[in-house]
Amino acid sequence: MRKPFISANWKMNKTIEETEEFINSFLPMVKDITAVDILIAPPFTSLQAVARLLKTTNIKLGAQNVFYEEKGAFTGEISPAMLLSAGCSHVIIGHSERRQYFMETDEIVNKKIKTARKNGLEVILCIGESLKEREENKTFEVLDRQLTGSLKDIDLNGMTIAYEPIWAIGTGKTATKEQANEAHAFIRGWLKKNREGAEKLRILYGGSVTPESIESLMSESEVDGALVGGASMKPDSFAKIVTGAIK
Ligand code: PEP
Repeated sequence: MRKPFISANWKMNKTIEETEEFINSFLPMVKDITAVDILIAPPFTSLQAVARLLKTTNIKLGAQNVFYEEKGAFTGEISPAMLLSAGCSHVIIGHSERRQYFMETDEIVNKKIKTARKNGLEVILCIGESLKEREENKTFEVLDRQLTGSLKDIDLNGMTIAYEPIWAIGTGKTATKEQANEAHAFIRGWLKKNREGAEKLRILYGGSVTPESIESLMSESEVDGALVGGASMKPDSFAKIVTGAIK
């Protein structure tokens, strides 16, 4: 069985002080939980502070983005080595907000995954369709295109996939558990057909997950966890999601 995996994506929220406050109240709430892998992805500026506070825990630290070059004249960008030295084990790549606002294509996502993996970072790859694509019955076509492009020449070691339908992110509209499971089953089927080790890979659902919806989502066989934005910003709400994810 795949161990449940719950990840917090704080996007562009929380100063260092706010981050420390969150971690200090969150840790006691989850100290006895070993049945779920937990990851927090704060903004770059809080990585080091979180790494220090998580040192004696099993909670993993992730970044929300990384650049595909290893070093050099790329003002404003962050390399995999910098993330590792700040204490990260993971990085989120291809989030729909990066695709939408920063013009990240599957080709760029693919280059980022390659550099991240080469440097030993584990990757959470985000994919998912827009509302228009879902309404036009193009969900599987979009997922197929994103998987083909993003995973070109990449094996599944160190990979997690987050299925995040764009219409469900930050909108309060969670996919039904059946919709999530159907998309996850498609993704796993694609991976089984095209890569080794698909059975072990965890597929997370992302899109307005709350303490109220997590248990139902996790009841589906193909849902291995969640990538949580809004509801991961408050310690008690995120702790409830972690607890609710125990299968
Ligand atoms: C996300 O940012 O990946 C996300 C799923 O956000 P939210 O939970 O707020 O929809």
